[in-house]
Amino acid sequence: MAPVLSSKLPKVGTTIFTVMSTLAAECGALNLSQGFPDFSAPQRLFDLVAEQLAAGRNQYAPMAGAAPLREAIAEKVFALYGARYAVAGEITVTAGATQAIFTAIAACVRPGDEVIVFAPVYDSYVPGIELNGGKAVYSTMRYPDYRPDWDEVQALISPRTRMIIINSPHNPSGSVWSADDLQRLSAVVRDTDIIIVSDEVYEHVVFAEEGRRHDSVAAHAELRERSFVVSSFGKTYHITGWKIAYCLAPAALMNEFRKAHQFVVFAVNHPMQLALAGFMREQPGFARELAMFYQGKRDFFRQRLADSRFELLPCAGTYFQLARYSEITSEPDTEFVRRLALEHGVAAIPVSAFYPDGEDCQVIRFCFAKNEDTLAAAARRLALV
Ligand code: PMP
Ligand code: GLN
Repeated sequence: MAPVLSSKLPKVGTTIFTVMSTLAAECGALNLSQGFPDFSAPQRLFDLVAEQLAAGRNQYAPMAGAAPLREAIAEKVFALYGARYAVAGEITVTAGATQAIFTAIAACVRPGDEVIVFAPVYDSYVPGIELNGGKAVYSTMRYPDYRPDWDEVQALISPRTRMIIINSPHNPSGSVWSADDLQRLSAVVRDTDIIIVSDEVYEHVVFAEEGRRHDSVAAHAELRERSFVVSSFGKTYHITGWKIAYCLAPAALMNEFRKAHQFVVFAVNHPMQLALAGFMREQPGFARELAMFYQGKRDFFRQRLADSRFELLPCAGTYFQLARYSEITSEPDTEFVRRLALEHGVAAIPVSAFYPDGEDCQVIRFCFAKNEDTLAAAARRLALV
């Protein structure tokens, strides 16, 4: 007789990104749902991979990551944020930010611990917390500006709070936290043992209007001491399919992280790590220019939607544009995105998917990490909705 397995994640279905990308493929819709570029990474990066393959760098990488890549990361983080992380014990290369975040949770969260997250919340955090026996506690950021409410966060702190997971630039809202937000966070956790996981995968995609910039937790002396900082090469170099990212943390935290990391994945794709190290050395400007590159795409897409019936929300960072469609229909967002894909040929993500209770403000998310042809074609279809 087959065993009966009671689910550890009874409420979890298939991730919305897979659901919407599958629907887009089935019905031939332009896929502005799951976040990934439809254009190529630089040819030079592929050539560097080919060189590493040919040079025989095809066996396990060191558990913590290839030394040249960790060195390149350390230099980048120092140049950008003035923070020195030790190559030997404070930087680990991971199989995507998803694994880094999961591993940080697994290393720190025990059954019964509480972890504060901000809804709309990126969809991997809460299952990661629950698989490790923790309980997600939600602070809510709301339409239209999706700002954190620090008084609410303070009120959610309890003796069981073990961790707070933050994400700026924020997916899906495109909002960006200020230095003042980090000050508030710092005041909330002062004199506690709370650990921070800072998901900064869009660190290079902050649009510099009104003096805006990315305030990394790595640059914040007080927060840095208690934080795992996560970034992803997938977002920076247009290679989401390579699943390579990294985690920074002070030595004591990183020591615990690696105890888990070595048995979750052990090590990450070796030739690609070495290629990335070479590329970072050769082209340090690539990451610096990314924000301008995506700002062009954001503005291109927004201009073409200006006369549509979608209300475009501000986008300060990331490659996601939120749009409210209440002028078009009163349908729930989950139904609207299905109809948009099936009848109008454009796939998007319903923002209610990122709220625990499915809170629906009739807002959907478009990914603009696409060629101008794709964006123009999608905008033409959306203008008719
Ligand atoms: N965090 C956020 C906010 C993301 O948007 C993503 C992916 N798009 C990830 C984590 C996961 O990154 P990776 O693909 O490197 O696992
Ligand atoms: N992070 C990407 C997004 O927000 C998707 C990554 C995934 O599919 N897991 O669309």
